[in-house]
Amino acid sequence: MTHDREPDRRSFLRAVGVGAAVVGFDAGSRAWATQAGADGGLGAERVPHLDGTLLTDPAALAPYADDFGHLVTGRTPSAVLLPGSVGDIAAMIRYCGPRRIDVAPRGQGHQCFGQAQVKAGLVIDMGPLHAIAVDPARRTVEVQAGAVWSAVLDACLAHGLTPPVFTDYIERSVGGTLSAGGLGGAAQHHGAQVDTVVELDVVTGTGEVVTCSAHRHAELFHAARAGLGQVGVITRAVLTLVPARARVRKYTLTYATVAELTAAQRRAVRDGRFDWLEGAAAALPGGGWQYQLEGAVYYDAAAPDDQALIGDLGFQGPPVVAEFDYRGFVDDLAPAIAYLKASGEWYDPHPWSDLLLPDAATDAYVTAAMAGLTLADVGPSGVILLYPIPRARLRTPLLRTPDSDLVFLFAVLRTAAPDPGALPAAAMLEANRALYLQAQAFGGTIYPVDSIPMTAADWRVQYGDQWSAFRAAKHRFDPHGILTPGQGIFSRPAG
Ligand SMILES: Cc1cc2nc3c(=O)[nH]c(=O)nc-3n(C[C@H](O)[C@H](O)[C@H](O)COP(=O)(O)OP(=O)(O)OC[C@H]3O[C@@H](n4cnc5c(N)ncnc54)[C@H](O)[C@@H]3O)c2cc1C
Repeated sequence: MTHDREPDRRSFLRAVGVGAAVVGFDAGSRAWATQAGADGGLGAERVPHLDGTLLTDPAALAPYADDFGHLVTGRTPSAVLLPGSVGDIAAMIRYCGPRRIDVAPRGQGHQCFGQAQVKAGLVIDMGPLHAIAVDPARRTVEVQAGAVWSAVLDACLAHGLTPPVFTDYIERSVGGTLSAGGLGGAAQHHGAQVDTVVELDVVTGTGEVVTCSAHRHAELFHAARAGLGQVGVITRAVLTLVPARARVRKYTLTYATVAELTAAQRRAVRDGRFDWLEGAAAALPGGGWQYQLEGAVYYDAAAPDDQALIGDLGFQGPPVVAEFDYRGFVDDLAPAIAYLKASGEWYDPHPWSDLLLPDAATDAYVTAAMAGLTLADVGPSGVILLYPIPRARLRTPLLRTPDSDLVFLFAVLRTAAPDPGALPAAAMLEANRALYLQAQAFGGTIYPVDSIPMTAADWRVQYGDQWSAFRAAKHRFDPHGILTPGQGIFSRPAG
């Protein structure tokens, strides 16, 4: 495996000015003790020897009390582990468990509701573990969980291969998306990213390093994928690959109503004519919305015949047709993200709602939801997505979907701009919850990369017939109940 990001880590350590080494945890004050503190007689219990570094400097901890949502504050960890090895993660989890110190792994921190935060506990920054090794003969890639998908893509493209499914934005960690699911426009053919996993290494809540797959330690394999960090820290994944095509032709087709969009999407998903299929709502200048089908075809030499491909999809006006090389297509959100970062909007709060809806309810529900939404409810840089995925492709038990052959992802990705008159983040969160409760009533589920306030009862509804298996796995693999409390799913066992 290659280690290509070491300089970043070294400069980070210099930047935060890591100083006195942590030597232990003082159970009385529930604080980490540095060499100086320990020498001062704190009576701290010594931490294990580490290949990496434990940060406790307040300036170094502050970024880990925040995430892309900027909605949850005040959960500052007591320490952050920059692991030098998987053994560091195992050793620190073994140390934290009996002391009831909560632990959360963190990839790129792109969740929006504090899911990777842990007040007064230990955050494990997976960034330093980012090695990638492609096996062209087997058409697999072996990655450490801190690697970001853009780096995985580049390593695979060097062999003419690619992971079959990407999320819309690829600067995220493999561990972070495998803990959630990983949905994108190619999921209609290949399922979610979690469905492309062959094997995982997981450090459980007892600090054991377990290699698991569908045939080996299957209970852990099924609870770790889309398991929201509840049963262990994913440290390594083996993923399937497919040949990468050279070029991509993308079509954007416009519709006046939700029902017209979804009718065209159903037709296209049924015959699988596109390699990639998504859809969105776009605000009209005078108010209201129009809808867009986005479909793409991958090819090598001969470009697809446009008329044969889209002629029967009943759209309005001229289609927008764009050409990309394959990498440019997979990463086509990069310019927009660069713009949002430059304008500062990237750093505004993100009260995101992500729902999966049963086919039969989608048209009426989304039509009503859109009638109640204005640009102010979503924010100027907000995005609304609507696209179908056949349920048979989504095979990971904990990636919960409605009981319907076809499910629609309906994502209202709001940005709470600080402008006067804009809807505040708190009101957006309330609106998310209202949308969720309506969807829950007809069997809709959340896609849990969102900021929808959930109760304990909601989580039981979310997991439905998988709830008891998930809870049993939690008790078995995280008996101290220390892992990833920011998801808010399980309470800690007594004692
Ligand atoms: C601009 C943008 C676009 C997005 N588009 C999509 C999309 O198209 N499709 C989609 O599916 N999602 C999308 N997402 C959501 C994104 O995939 C998830 O939020 C993902 O979890 C973020 O990965 P991360 O590395 O930032 O994880 P983090 O936010 O750091 O962590 C996410 C959760 O996973 C846990 N975790 C992290 N690493 C591990 C590990 N190694 N083992 C176990 N648990 C771990 C954390 O504790 C936390 O609970 C988008 C997000 C953004 C910001």
